[in-house]
Amino acid sequence: MRQWLSMVLVASLLACSAETQQPTYDILIINGTVYDGSDSAATVSTIGITGDRIIAINADADAKAGTVIDAEGLLVMPGFIDPHTHAPLKGPDATAHSNFLTQGVTTVIVGSDGGGVDDREATFAELTAGGSGANIAWFAGHGAIREAVMELDDRAPSGDELDAMRGMLVEEMERGALGLSTGLYYAPGSFAATDEVIELARVAAEMGGVYDTHLRDESSYTVGLLAAVDEAIEIARRANIPVHISHIKALGKDTWGQSTEVVRRVTEARGDGLEVTANQYPWRASNVRLASALVPRWVMAGSRDDMRSRLGDASLADRIRAEMTDNLARRGGPEAMLITTADSTFRGMTLLRIAEVLGTDPVSAAIELVVTEDPNIASFVMQQDDIDTFRAQPWVMTGSDGGRGHPRFSASYPKAWRDFVRDREMLSPQQFVHRSAGLVADTLRLCDRGYLRPGYAADIVIIDEPDFQPLADFENPDRLSSGVAHLLINGKLVIHDSARLEQRAGRVLAKHELDCPSDS
Ligand SMILES: [Zn+2]
Repeated sequence: MRQWLSMVLVASLLACSAETQQPTYDILIINGTVYDGSDSAATVSTIGITGDRIIAINADADAKAGTVIDAEGLLVMPGFIDPHTHAPLKGPDATAHSNFLTQGVTTVIVGSDGGGVDDREATFAELTAGGSGANIAWFAGHGAIREAVMELDDRAPSGDELDAMRGMLVEEMERGALGLSTGLYYAPGSFAATDEVIELARVAAEMGGVYDTHLRDESSYTVGLLAAVDEAIEIARRANIPVHISHIKALGKDTWGQSTEVVRRVTEARGDGLEVTANQYPWRASNVRLASALVPRWVMAGSRDDMRSRLGDASLADRIRAEMTDNLARRGGPEAMLITTADSTFRGMTLLRIAEVLGTDPVSAAIELVVTEDPNIASFVMQQDDIDTFRAQPWVMTGSDGGRGHPRFSASYPKAWRDFVRDREMLSPQQFVHRSAGLVADTLRLCDRGYLRPGYAADIVIIDEPDFQPLADFENPDRLSSGVAHLLINGKLVIHDSARLEQRAGRVLAKHELDCPSDS
């Protein structure tokens, strides 16, 4: 009996001491200067992580942990959320997403510009099986849905076709898409009238989605930049949906300086209670297919073969050449276009140089290139003043629009940090962090990301600020950025002491499966 009593006593003492013991974390980040994703100033605090979640902020720095990261002298931030990317979803190396992780980006949004995710079910299954470097969230693509239902026809949909499009969008939303993206500049999005977009945006709105748009015109090609912004605002108003303008810019000499008027119109709409936001990449050059930059839309209608035959039709030649000459002038002439497609024989050459090499004029050279390979180009079409005017707005976030062949794929976040925070002090560090993480999560309804708070996903970037630098340029667009000392995705270390680990910790984030903390 006595023996039994003492056993109970020992057991309860053990239990008692276990209770008073410090909690144990998988990972503890100590001594770091912490920006929490809001626009508040940094504090020095300790972050405790267990599993894939942040458990404690202001944890006891002496608590037990499997791994302790000493972040003394480093900046600790929520992993950046890139709202507009062309991140690879296939290929064993490309899906490591090292180009994004080394910028501090932990979540990338795909399906932008109306493109959606090709063969989404199989693509995501394969990605999940092989492991994704970054978290992936996606938009359903208006262009992809439209093409599936009505091919590349330049006409309004019938009632049945519109119903079919609605049905496909509902399915995407049920699978967890963030909302609907459009690319109204590109075929087939350019064939859709505003009312068609509103009909579909309403479906996304009813399901809690966001409307993301590559505007119908960022320049003076068709309706003009200002009318295109008005259209986006009209869609927000009539479909009752938040609208996010992708890679906001004033493209080409006809629109330079219009950033002020765009800001005025968006600010007014926001004053009316509409949720209008935008993202921006910090480069003066866009990245576009040569055809999309120069060839008139009516020439591009239908298939690529249709386009080729129009380009070869002598009866159309004068009209096509005249319009292409205008488009070239709008974009700053043949010296402002640089071929960037990796396997093009003309890579690194301007259109002007190519014309010289081919012994012809720039428009003829462009037609030849479009017909043979239609390469990607860096097109130097923006002014720094407009970039700055947009960037200063509290509703403009960092984005990369990152795809292969442009340094924005590998260097947008450190370049934006340099340009706007460090070198010119246009933004405070906390404004930058908020507009690269917390505000993006709020805007896209990624309820468990973007902030360093208990219950949130442990997506964390730790930066050695003096070394946080863009190293890619147009010659070397794939060169990785420096300065990310540590990176966690879903509680797993994927960069440690500046070394990229093998581990792939990204997930496909279906919106309805997010584990939203109660305060979000
Ligand atoms: Zn775009």
